[in-house]
Amino acid sequence: MSLLSSDTVFHPIRTIDRPRTSDNKLARVTDYFGSNVFDLRAMRKRLSSQDVETLDTVMKFGGKIDSNLASRIATAVREWASERGATHYCHWFQPQTGATAEKHDAFLWFDKSGAPIERFTGAELLQSEPDASSFPSGGLRATFEARGYTGWDPSSPMFIMETESGKTLYIPSVFISYHGEALDYKTPLLRSNAILNQAAVKTMHLLGEKNVTNVLNNIGAEQEFFVIEKQYYDKRPDLSMTGRTVLGHKPAKGQELEDHYFGHIPSRVQSFINEAELELYKLAVPLKTRHNEVAPHQFEVAPIFETSNIAADHNQLLMKVMKQIAVRHGFVVLFHEKPFAGVNGSGKHLNWSMADNTGRNLLEPGHTPHENIVFLTFLCATLQGITDHADVLRAAIATTGNDHRLGANEAPPAIISAFLGDTLERILNALESGKTEGLSAERVMLDLGVSHLQEVAKDNTDRNRTSPFAFTGNKFEFRAVGSSSPINYPATILNAAVASGLKKLNTKLEAKAKNGVVSPEDIISVLRGVITETKKIRFEGNGYSQEWRDEAARRGLSNFPNTPAALEVLADKNKTAFLVEGKIFRSEDIASRLAIQLERYLKQRLIEMNCALELTETAILPAAFDYLKDLMTLVKNSQELGIETGAKEVAMLLGKETTQLSHKIQSLRAAVTKITSSDAMEHDNLTATAKLMANTTYPQLEELRDASDRVEAMLPRDKQPLPTYADMLFGIG
Ligand code: ADP
Ligand code: MG
Repeated sequence: MSLLSSDTVFHPIRTIDRPRTSDNKLARVTDYFGSNVFDLRAMRKRLSSQDVETLDTVMKFGGKIDSNLASRIATAVREWASERGATHYCHWFQPQTGATAEKHDAFLWFDKSGAPIERFTGAELLQSEPDASSFPSGGLRATFEARGYTGWDPSSPMFIMETESGKTLYIPSVFISYHGEALDYKTPLLRSNAILNQAAVKTMHLLGEKNVTNVLNNIGAEQEFFVIEKQYYDKRPDLSMTGRTVLGHKPAKGQELEDHYFGHIPSRVQSFINEAELELYKLAVPLKTRHNEVAPHQFEVAPIFETSNIAADHNQLLMKVMKQIAVRHGFVVLFHEKPFAGVNGSGKHLNWSMADNTGRNLLEPGHTPHENIVFLTFLCATLQGITDHADVLRAAIATTGNDHRLGANEAPPAIISAFLGDTLERILNALESGKTEGLSAERVMLDLGVSHLQEVAKDNTDRNRTSPFAFTGNKFEFRAVGSSSPINYPATILNAAVASGLKKLNTKLEAKAKNGVVSPEDIISVLRGVITETKKIRFEGNGYSQEWRDEAARRGLSNFPNTPAALEVLADKNKTAFLVEGKIFRSEDIASRLAIQLERYLKQRLIEMNCALELTETAILPAAFDYLKDLMTLVKNSQELGIETGAKEVAMLLGKETTQLSHKIQSLRAAVTKITSSDAMEHDNLTATAKLMANTTYPQLEELRDASDRVEAMLPRDKQPLPTYADMLFGIG
């Protein structure tokens, strides 16, 4: 018997129009990669080499663009975009909603004679003013001064987004208030890049690398997601309203057999991913890897790493394009961290590193003793940053959806720690123990074998699955980020933390410097102290185990099990001082961001609860009563005829379950009313209310769910009011 509902419609495999060359051959990826991006190639055709050079420098290392240059760029990009059929432009920005925002304007204008023309000025390129009052501000601004401005971010290239019926020029932008406060996720990332750069360049100079002028931050974000049939999604209001199923009985088969991971990608999904890749390649998103993930219907794609600002924009584009293309294939993509209870959730792994202006990766162990020392210095500074700011780092990944992963015995635990692997552990321990004291730095590096690290570290990949922050050969992998989160916020905090670690290290190095340079032996002795100071953050064992939780508590590491608990650190001025000192945020901004996040957490949980209440009251219970009615008729008739059926026992059990479900509905409804009808959602009460939600109210939703799932499990297939887990997770051919 098929598990699928009788009304399942099979969607045909969609054929994709692959780009062709002028002589009608299939085009290669390199023929169309970046074709929808106003990149250096496109600029060179329309701007003077002087202008391109200025813009290229600003793109890579920051700087200002004057109004004359802005006008020339505006004209050039408008002509380029119009030629490709774009009619509109928009400033594309990332308010604190977690989604991107855009307001479109046409190029249409009129000349003096009244004839229609296309126009796009430098001023329009540089800035626009969407109404900021409808975006979350966390009480930062009164409505009368709610003006917000979007300003072009020249470090991320402009591009054309295509839809079925039109094209629009997108201008990656920051979103700031009249007074210059960052209202978005992009501005803080750019600021964090700047302080990381500053601190890291100084470190390099102290190490004797005087010709380093810039240090950039690179990120490659692995993205996990689920794909399900749109026909089922459309019948599950919980999925469309909350991104996850708030009800649903687990199927007989889960991921126990582990037969999905790295298995054959189903043809229709393959076809969807192909089309998404095609569109993303045109947008210069460098997708490299695609594979099945562990759960049924779960997949992963990963791009080649890029500088963090562009990687962050590209990850947003990736999610946007994938959602859009999936529908053409009869699918919906779920980026939620935990769409299905009892089934593995999704994350986003930020592979993170620093590279200097020559492209050299500072987390690469290297082959010469000097390279080894540079590597160990940046490794230790990273550990320092993570040790000092672990709590804020935990807060940076605290979202409603991620609460279902972190600490829930899958993905990384909620305790922030760093995994280095056996070899690196041995090296740091040897350095710390002082066994190598008295030897030349060169001898120390050769004896410890730092240069062989990279090959060894790669083999550790499988053992670090339970670590939130793992060293993987020449980069760290921040694995605890939620799958739906924009990456710029966690990246901002990580950069700021490491910048702070570098600054601390620089002070110690400066004390030993002669003519601005520190001797290799002195560097090693400074690092020895850092290794001791940061030892508590290093952990190699199983992050899921109770022993680790106990051990972490002994070490004084925090374990924040949910969003409200994790966010509380943002109210502690001592803990967030590094963000203020680094000029990432002012302290008012941090308070407002805290309020925004608490409010979002509460609203998301309330929506889930209202959704669960509605579904149980209008779908699950009525279906159960309908079945009960049938059972009771059967019981009555069978008694009259004296036929033994067992129907009475089933009816009695179902009656018991529906009664329980009714009780859970009543108590959850009362709890929701308490939160929504009082002043609990007022600004000053948000922290207390969010805690009440996490500790008391949310568990009631779980209880309601259990009761509902028990009822659902008893319903015959033809009375199931919603597509079941079995339908949704085992349907794709
Ligand atoms: P693994 O699968 O072992 O985690 P991969 O080499 O597949 O490692 O890399 C995963 C992601 O890490 C990719 O997005 C890749 O581009 C990125 N990555 C590789 N090297 C770096 C680096 N130096 N800095 C940042 N990201 C990197
Ligand atoms: Mg990886």
